[in-house]
Amino acid sequence: MAQVIDHRGGVWSIAVPIPDNPLGHTLVHLLETDRGPVLIDTGWDDPDSWDTLVAGVAACGFAVTDLHGVLITHHHPDHHGLSAAVREASGAWIAMHAADTAVVRRTREAEPGSWLGFLTAKLTAAGAPEDHLAPLREARAKRHGAVRSGRPPALPDREISPGALLGLPGRRLRAIWTPGHTPGHVCLHLEEEHPGRGAQAAGGGPVAASGPGPRFGRLFSGDHLLPGITPHVGLYEDPDDATVTDPLGDYLDSLERIGRLAPAEVLPAHQHAFTDAGGRVRELLAHHEERLAGLRTLLRDPLTPWQLAVAMEWNRPWAQIPYGSRNIAVSEAEAHLRHLVKLGHAEPVPGSGPTTYRAV
Ligand SMILES: [Zn+2]
Ligand SMILES: [Zn+2]
Repeated sequence: MAQVIDHRGGVWSIAVPIPDNPLGHTLVHLLETDRGPVLIDTGWDDPDSWDTLVAGVAACGFAVTDLHGVLITHHHPDHHGLSAAVREASGAWIAMHAADTAVVRRTREAEPGSWLGFLTAKLTAAGAPEDHLAPLREARAKRHGAVRSGRPPALPDREISPGALLGLPGRRLRAIWTPGHTPGHVCLHLEEEHPGRGAQAAGGGPVAASGPGPRFGRLFSGDHLLPGITPHVGLYEDPDDATVTDPLGDYLDSLERIGRLAPAEVLPAHQHAFTDAGGRVRELLAHHEERLAGLRTLLRDPLTPWQLAVAMEWNRPWAQIPYGSRNIAVSEAEAHLRHLVKLGHAEPVPGSGPTTYRAV
């Protein structure tokens, strides 16, 4: 049965399962507008997840065919997976930030196996050992894992412009660009009085007249701000773009942006709703500051990104981290290195190959 929470004021969340994933589910939000309901994220593309979403929309009092729009916080499959199915069933438009739409376009156009080639080259440059690289080369040779399972991710119809109101009839929802977890991640700020504060609002003028004040409105935070998880921040993997980006720097800036926004309540895409956005932002900023300081200590001896990942602290010993998660860990180590280099706290060692880095 669909797990649905009525957050009041025409906002619901539907817990859509993610198969075989410790995260459990994606919280898809349904927002009622004068033109019909709109979804914020859609969930993983899987038959059970689809059934749960359909049942959830019904539990909110609507039919999937009533949906007239889909707003996607970022391109990851646990958020954007079912968008194509929703559009097919309802004719709803799909909106996403341009930087994540570019990722979707790239994924759709990529020649099968090219991603494996890119990953192998990247891990080789990061200093991955032969026993880690060999299976990738084999898979590439056999083109195993290169076949896309299921339908390709939907190409969005609309762009979410940072800072702009989304033009939903009867609602004030503003897009806040929060790059870091992905290059085009957005949070969506519902600039309306929190329904739990009705008593205070009674007798007051329209919300727009007072404007955003302290602890204002509700924030759909996607994966940017979660109550008990530090979102993954790796490099923005674009095989065709040589721009030296700093995703961790972007993420920390985005955190501060949300901290300044001070929403009354956060409705994240995993776990549960929570109120102290500022406190959670400070916690995450402190966590990253501590981690960066720890890495500078590790980098007293020059290390490759792979060696740094092995030396870093994870939620379990390196030997117990599964193969695929090691790739994610290395990408996280690289994001930290990139940020330290940008701050002038680390530098590549000239002439090293694979490149090692040391603290400055
Ligand atoms: Zn994500
Ligand atoms: Zn997610």
